[in-house]
Amino acid sequence: MKPFDYLSPADPAAAVRGVAGNPDAVFLGGGTNLVDHLKLGVAEPRLVVGLAGLLPTEIEELDGGALRIGAGLSNSELAADPRVRARFPVLSQALLSGASGQLRNMATVGGNPLQRTRCVYFQDVTTPCNKREPGAGCSAIGGWTRHHAVLGASEHCIAVHPSDMAVAMAALEARVRVLGPDGERVVPFVDLHRLPGDAPERDTVLEHGELITAIDLPAQPLARRSAYRKVRDRASYAFALVSVAAALEVVDGVIVDARVAFGGVAHAPWRAYRAEEVLRGSPASEESYRAAADAELADARAAEGLDGGNAFKIPLLRRTLAATLRELAGEDTR
Ligand code: SF4
Repeated sequence: MKPFDYLSPADPAAAVRGVAGNPDAVFLGGGTNLVDHLKLGVAEPRLVVGLAGLLPTEIEELDGGALRIGAGLSNSELAADPRVRARFPVLSQALLSGASGQLRNMATVGGNPLQRTRCVYFQDVTTPCNKREPGAGCSAIGGWTRHHAVLGASEHCIAVHPSDMAVAMAALEARVRVLGPDGERVVPFVDLHRLPGDAPERDTVLEHGELITAIDLPAQPLARRSAYRKVRDRASYAFALVSVAAALEVVDGVIVDARVAFGGVAHAPWRAYRAEEVLRGSPASEESYRAAADAELADARAAEGLDGGNAFKIPLLRRTLAATLRELAGEDTR
C-alpha cells in the first residue's frame, strides 16, 4: 500500500473542500471497498478524507410516509429498521442479501451505491482495464465473462455494478442528496449511475468532491408489496448473477402499477421501464410476465468468454423476473 495523508475534517463541508481541492483525494466512509482497493493498488490516493462521525445516521420521517436516510447509517441498521421493513421490504431484503453481517455493519448507506465493480480484471492491476486506466483496453472482452453485463455494455467495458441496495433504490425512485463545493443538489437515483459508453472510468454522474449526505425514499404505498430476488453462485456472501427488485399492485387480477429493476446485468442498476409499461393494465399472468421480459430484454446481448460466456444470464433473468412477479401477484391479488 502506498503511503497517504489522512484528514479528519470537522464537518461535511470541510470534507467536501478537502476532496474537491485535491484531484488525488478520496472520501473514506465504512471502507469496505476502498480499503481493498488501497491494498490491491487499484486506488492510490495521496489524501484520504475520513467521514467518521460527520454524516447523519438517522432515518427521518417525511410527509406521507416518506423517509430520509442519513448517509452515515450502516447497511445493517437500515435493513433492520421496522419502517423500512414494513414500507419498503424490497430494500431490506436487498440489503440482507448483500455481503456478510460484518461487512453490512461497516458499510454505509452513502458508500454502498459508490462501490466499484468486482470485475476481476479491474481488481488485478497486472491486466489492462479501461476503467482503471482509460485507453488501456478491456481484458474482460474475450476473457472471463460469467459475471459481466448483458444490458447497456460498450466496446470499452462490460462490467456490472455490484450493489444490491442500489437495485432496490432504483426501483423505489429514491433521490440522492449530494453536497458539493457549490452547495447541495438532488439526483434521482436512476440517474446516479452511468452506462460505460466511452468513459467507463466514470461510474456515476457525481463530480469529484461531491458527497452523498442522505437518500430520500418517496412515499409509495405500492412498495409495501415488494420483493428482491437474487440468484448467485452460492447461498451467501456472493454477488448477483442476476437479481430483480419489484413492487406490484394487483386489483381483481389486473396489474394496476409496477416497479421493476434488475441487478447483476449492467454497469448501473437497470430500471426496467419497458417491462413496467407492459405490465401496467395487463392480467397478472405468466403470459404478461413473459411479455414484460421480452420487452425489456429485446436488446440484451451476451458476451462470449473463456468460461463459456454469460448467455445463461438472459433466460435466468427472465425466470427470475417471472418468479418475483408471481410471488408478488399472489400476495397482492384481492
Ligand atoms: Fe475493466 Fe470494465 Fe473491462 Fe472489467 S469490463 S476489464 S472493469 S474495462
